[in-house]
Amino acid sequence: MAVPRRQTFVSACLMGCACRYDGGQKEDRELILELGEGALSFCPEVEGGLGVPRPRAFFVGGDGMAVWEGRAKVMNEHGEDVTAEFRRGAVRALAASMAGNCTVAHFKEGSPSCGLTRVDIEGQQTPGLGVAAALFSRAGLVLRGHD
Ligand code: SF4
Repeated sequence: MAVPRRQTFVSACLMGCACRYDGGQKEDRELILELGEGALSFCPEVEGGLGVPRPRAFFVGGDGMAVWEGRAKVMNEHGEDVTAEFRRGAVRALAASMAGNCTVAHFKEGSPSCGLTRVDIEGQQTPGLGVAAALFSRAGLVLRGHD
């Protein structure tokens, strides 16, 4: 019986996808070479229903883990609550990673979805997790951050 192929989840902007809120990307050549064909490239915010470009977003009340605990929300710079889109994108990202048999995820640091060690909470760079990173952490994947 064939063993299912194991992929590695990676924030799409690190793979050169122009999916950031400002229409930019954060290509990481070393990571692209390291992962090769095994990369599962995914942008939680785009897949959650947010467009490119999109308003900058930040946390109110806590980080991504606090969002899952119902203690925080994600707002954009226009004052709109985008928590539902962020949660939807994170759930779709985790579903894709499970379908790809991923045990490791590489995330873009500082993002309200993908941040691993710091995020913007009410205008301050603060230690914490993005919404997708928090969900992956709860699911037990090995997480790696990239600036
Ligand atoms: S950091 Fe995550 S949510 Fe933001 S553009 Fe990159 S893949 Fe998308």
